[in-house]
Amino acid sequence: MALKVYSSGSSQQWEEPGAFEVAPNVYRIPLPLPGDSLRAVNVYLLLEDDHAILIDSGMYVPQARKRLKESLDAIGIGLGDISEFLITHLHRDHYTQAVLLRDDFNGRIALGARERPSMEIIRERATAKDPTMVHDRYSQLIECGAKYLIDILRNFEGDDGEIAGYYKMPDRWLEDDSGIELANRTLNVIATPGHTQGHVVFHDPQSKLLFAGDHVLPHITPSIGLEPTRAALPLGDFLSSLRKVRLLPESRLFPAHGPVVESMHNRIDELLIHHDLRLTQASNLLSLGRSTAHEVALGLPWTRRQVGFDTLDPFNQMLAVTETLFHLDLLVQQQRAELSIVAEVRHYQPPESSSTKL
Ligand SMILES: [Zn+2]
Repeated sequence: MALKVYSSGSSQQWEEPGAFEVAPNVYRIPLPLPGDSLRAVNVYLLLEDDHAILIDSGMYVPQARKRLKESLDAIGIGLGDISEFLITHLHRDHYTQAVLLRDDFNGRIALGARERPSMEIIRERATAKDPTMVHDRYSQLIECGAKYLIDILRNFEGDDGEIAGYYKMPDRWLEDDSGIELANRTLNVIATPGHTQGHVVFHDPQSKLLFAGDHVLPHITPSIGLEPTRAALPLGDFLSSLRKVRLLPESRLFPAHGPVVESMHNRIDELLIHHDLRLTQASNLLSLGRSTAHEVALGLPWTRRQVGFDTLDPFNQMLAVTETLFHLDLLVQQQRAELSIVAEVRHYQPPESSSTKL
């Protein structure tokens, strides 16, 4: 089946196959993510005179490669024509296809400099084949008071050794606040820690486009701190990164998952309000006597459909309790909660003064 080039957004679902020209010489190409509830990941092709640049690359699976090839065919270029991969962060749906294409052709890969420690850990684990090294996510579950999830999640584990082949090092590390000069545009690299510590977005100030990766998504709130190294205050980082990007001139939002959005400012405002509300809800649950991240997560509504924690699958329960932990840690930093640790489990309570009657 020959794929079509579309002049801009059409009435189709965002994940439908095709090459969508979303700005002059900028194409949104959704690639499949088999078995993933996100359904697809957008990669963005920039045509710059003799060069083709891809922002994010898709996942290492054959279906994604086939779809990318068909989509590039429709535009009139080949997989080997991509000279540079600019990757927003190291998650496999963004990074790994670039490694395979670099192996087979020539392109260079660039990744945010602060992804380096996580990259090194992923590579070490895979070569060490030491299962005990995989489980720092699990110690976090113990801290959340959600130890029961560890055994359930163990059954879902994949083979990290296999994945290592897709995590070769990039050719260059991108520094915050640097510029990438292309033939017809300059992209500013902006470090946006939160989703991962080394996440970056690419801003084209001239054409007013923001290639946002997973930092700002139109339909969901990105998960926080999903990486092997641990940040001290991942939600604090994420909110600061949102505020930093909010200060840029209004731009169109080109997300990695979901359709193009005309106002990045509106969407960032919604995300900031969402997290404000979550912090207040978590703080209220502490006042009602809940104390661990697991207990608080049980009292919060989840997903856009506002469902109960118990209806989430184990993987999403893990994301939910750790995200709650990050909210509670931020409350502590804001002096809206106090922390005590008992047998590795983190317990939170309202600050002394708030319960003191005057
Ligand atoms: Zn991601």
